[in-house]
Amino acid sequence: MKTQVKVVVIGGGIAGCSTLYHLTQEGWTDVMLLERDELTSGTTWHSAAQVTNFGMNQTMVGLKSHSIALYKELADDPDYPINYHHGDGGIRLANTQAQMDGYRHFASMARGMDVHFEILDAEECARRHPLISTDNLVGGLWDPLDGDIDPAQLCQALARRARKAGAEVHRHTPVTALRQLKDDTWIVSTPKGEVHADIVVNACGYRVNEVGAMMGVHHPVMSMEHQYFITEEIPAIREAGHRMPLIRCPISDFYSRQEKFGLLVGFYEQGCRTWGMDGIDPHFVNDLCPDDLDRITDVLEGAFARMPALTEVGIKSVVNGPITYSIDGAPLVGPIPGKRNAFCIIGLRAGLGEGGGHGWLLAQQIVHGEACYDTWPLDPRRFTGHGNVELCALKAIEEYQNEFRFEFPHEHRPAGRPIKTTPLTPVLAAEGAHFTVVNGWERADYFMPKPEFKEEHGFRRSNVDDVIAEEIAAVHGAVGLAEVNGFTRYEITGADAEAFLDRMVCGRVPRRAGRVGLTYLLNHHGMIKAEATLARLPDSTRGQGRIWYGAAAAAEQHDMDWLQAHVGAGEDVQIRCLTNDMTILIVAGPKARAVMKAVSREDWSAEAFPWLSVREAFVGIAPAVVMAVSFSGELAYEIHVPNNQLYPAYMALRAAGKEHGMRLFGARAVESMRLEKDFLHWKSDLLTEFDPIETGLGRFVNWQKDDFVGRAALAARRDAGPVKRRVLMEVLCTDRVAHGGASLMQDGKVVGTVTSGAWGDRTGMNLAIAFVSPEALDAPMAVDLIGDEIPVRVLDKPPFDPEMTRLRG
Ligand SMILES: Cc1cc2nc3c(=O)[nH]c(=O)nc-3n(C[C@H](O)[C@H](O)[C@H](O)COP(=O)(O)OP(=O)(O)OC[C@H]3O[C@@H](n4cnc5c(N)ncnc54)[C@H](O)[C@@H]3O)c2cc1C
Repeated sequence: MKTQVKVVVIGGGIAGCSTLYHLTQEGWTDVMLLERDELTSGTTWHSAAQVTNFGMNQTMVGLKSHSIALYKELADDPDYPINYHHGDGGIRLANTQAQMDGYRHFASMARGMDVHFEILDAEECARRHPLISTDNLVGGLWDPLDGDIDPAQLCQALARRARKAGAEVHRHTPVTALRQLKDDTWIVSTPKGEVHADIVVNACGYRVNEVGAMMGVHHPVMSMEHQYFITEEIPAIREAGHRMPLIRCPISDFYSRQEKFGLLVGFYEQGCRTWGMDGIDPHFVNDLCPDDLDRITDVLEGAFARMPALTEVGIKSVVNGPITYSIDGAPLVGPIPGKRNAFCIIGLRAGLGEGGGHGWLLAQQIVHGEACYDTWPLDPRRFTGHGNVELCALKAIEEYQNEFRFEFPHEHRPAGRPIKTTPLTPVLAAEGAHFTVVNGWERADYFMPKPEFKEEHGFRRSNVDDVIAEEIAAVHGAVGLAEVNGFTRYEITGADAEAFLDRMVCGRVPRRAGRVGLTYLLNHHGMIKAEATLARLPDSTRGQGRIWYGAAAAAEQHDMDWLQAHVGAGEDVQIRCLTNDMTILIVAGPKARAVMKAVSREDWSAEAFPWLSVREAFVGIAPAVVMAVSFSGELAYEIHVPNNQLYPAYMALRAAGKEHGMRLFGARAVESMRLEKDFLHWKSDLLTEFDPIETGLGRFVNWQKDDFVGRAALAARRDAGPVKRRVLMEVLCTDRVAHGGASLMQDGKVVGTVTSGAWGDRTGMNLAIAFVSPEALDAPMAVDLIGDEIPVRVLDKPPFDPEMTRLRG
């Protein structure tokens, strides 16, 4: 066993084997996998091992496509063939039109990744799967490449190829301790000795937090018990003369696939159970939990009704094993928050289907710093410390109970809520707020017209649109007040703070105290990594020489990791996170200045405090930092207030706003207004897949600077010309809006992808932002919205106040 390697991968299930193999594929062969027992002895060996292409976003679809292509190639390898039922086909069932709309949306999204799903009616579902009944069935989504694989053979094949490329695999070698050295490398302890590794990867399945604890980390992952059984032979299957497609049923929470000439049927029962929450027996190896078919009787009835043949055969065997869930159901694949040179590939609820792709994207991140797709939906830093073990249990149960029921746009399920609140949360709730969830924070989405108001979730325009329109009308016509909690806010100080930031951003750091600027951070490939509002605070009794770095709520750990990783040895830079200490109140609308005048003795005139200014002030008696910035396109002030004085500040603003017709507004109104201004959202429209020039932000790149992170790569991209172009479009229909992922079509071909969309109430326009192939811009395009191709019109400027006169007031 080597004592020094570049990477140690801990865990030999599908996650670890795939990571190891893909590291060698990326050219890193000085890598090692350590497995406490035999390969696949955790969850992998007993997996139902279904491999689908279906995913909720393009990153997921893309990585699953990679799995499928890789597994096919492995299966066809004459030197070491493995069993893979590739292309049996699979149907996701639906019993409501809203679900069918969802499938149409996901089909549109997948088209952009060259994945082609079909939408079927109930009869066609039954024609393709002769064992299912069409009772209470509307239709389904057909995934032609669905199938299943032998999980143990798959892992052995990956390990074999990795070994051939130079990697080491050590079985019966548990990692017992991890110690990080001053240079951020790791000492990995095992009973066979220590290994010095530059980088470690946690791929430990349900033991994720045993290894997490070795590095002082709790990962937001929980295990659930999950059961399937295998039936005896079903004569109709043999008679059918073809393999049965897979079934995934959100109506009755079960799945099935063919196993020999019987069926393997798995269940997601409501009375489900967490597993290993208080520790796992060290001898639980190659093991299962006791069968518990009583627990699944509720689901069983539904499965019997859908597949009556199940009532006529016996059960051959039962498998009940632990399966892991994260708090939003998606895996955690990427850098471990707050740790250097440490990665994870954990929380895999469908690791056999996804594992090939996750290992591929993780290896790219480790070797190149970034993957070919934006991996934010998988990024472990998307949760910011609130994923404690109790919350994990609640969310894992909820995810499990809803395994095949996707969340509709703007839907947030109730388990574990609220987890992050401010002193205003109950106040806004009493005002009728309906809350969305942003990085765990309960943020007002809109204010319900009456307490019993219930939003109709779906992919079409809904009963909430009129509510949002009224909020926007108040902001546009007079003044509105909104709380923006959880906004990422760092205070950056030190003699080298300005030089450091100047190196990090591709644009300008405000030079003068009292000024604010929007700027972008690029990765080393010249692509957009982060967006920051930099505010230069004046020296005062509240602090000296500070720069505030503001970013989206979700960016809290992501941006901190990125900044900290770039502070040079000996550089005098301190970065303090104020995110949890303060909250923003936004006053927006033509009467915003009048409200500010009424609550504060400062001079708020456009001359004394123009757009892009920042100052310290009092709002009533609450100390505040006020910025003249606007995401709505209206005259607006962002008021940053310490949480312990948030309520008095709010009360002062409410009182002052009364005579001006102030109304509360929420995040949905902001979303509509920002689209009318062509303002962008981090991780909706600002992605690592595009550079700032493609994103239409070329004016934010300061080429006069000799260097900034990503400059050389961006210069090369600039010279080569854009691969894509970001556009704002009008969607020429009124009954639905575009959602992220929808495909833009031209002559039957996909030429672009929507990143966000909303109805613009001030302009009466249906708007969407998309990235499009430049050559497609010269001819008409249409967007595939829930199955219909709707013409679009590219706009050459924002439709609302393009001269920016309103926000200057
Ligand atoms: C009943 C059931 C059915 C399923 N069906 C499907 C399906 O149809 N399709 C699908 O895609 N997914 C399915 N899954 C989920 C899938 O099986 C898992 O997502 C996947 O196997 C997880 O792989 P892993 O590598 O992350 O974890 P594991 O397979 O658990 O591997 C982790 C490895 O880490 C090792 N390890 C732990 N601690 C240490 C240590 N300290 N040192 C060294 N090694 C260590 C363990 O021994 C283990 O081998 C199913 C799961 C269950 C339970």
